[in-house]
Amino acid sequence: MFIGHFGVAFGAKPLVPKVSLGALFMAAQFLDLLWPTLLLLGLESVRIAPGATAVTPLLFEHYPISHSLLTVAGWALGFGMIHWLLFKNRTAAIVLGLLVLSHWVLDLIVHQPDLPLAPGSSVMVGLNLWSSLPATLAVEIPLFAAGIWLYLRATRPIDRRGVWGLWSLVLFLAVIYSANLFGPPPPDVKAIAWAGHAQWLLVLWAYWVDRHRQPAVPPLA
Ligand SMILES: [Zn+2]
Repeated sequence: MFIGHFGVAFGAKPLVPKVSLGALFMAAQFLDLLWPTLLLLGLESVRIAPGATAVTPLLFEHYPISHSLLTVAGWALGFGMIHWLLFKNRTAAIVLGLLVLSHWVLDLIVHQPDLPLAPGSSVMVGLNLWSSLPATLAVEIPLFAAGIWLYLRATRPIDRRGVWGLWSLVLFLAVIYSANLFGPPPPDVKAIAWAGHAQWLLVLWAYWVDRHRQPAVPPLA
């Protein structure tokens, strides 16, 4: 799952109009922001095996810190608590924590049974939507589109950067997604890890876009 996570992040905006899209991106994609660092540290591992699934050539061998249900619950709680300590906004903290959790739930739908329930646990779960490319697209593209639609309804541009900044971000996400789906497999795990770290730039981009938009008041609905 890639753009689906971003779709959920966009879509959360009406719930917490004051929270920047950058924070929503960081929460929804937090596990995949953590994962490349853990790969480089050798604490988690992935293998490139073209044909492993119909959608991704990656075999997620070992990622109990970033992607086990138990640790994810901890990351969600921690993310929400840090936000609460910084901003004292309970609704925002809860929504951000749930966004962190939403990543695991969406991964559960698409991954092969490779998501551990807890570190050390041999119980692996995953509903394997990735066995079908059309089925994956049928879930992920509407999620992405609906999220953008909700974000567009909840905000309006302050200046032109708020328009083209947003649409170039959307286009860029779509291009990365197509490259992941239809491009060649990554050359090695280091390349995956560095590309993974580059996702922090998407978070910064979203913060920047959000500064050029404002909550649509009065609410459009
Ligand atoms: Zn993930």
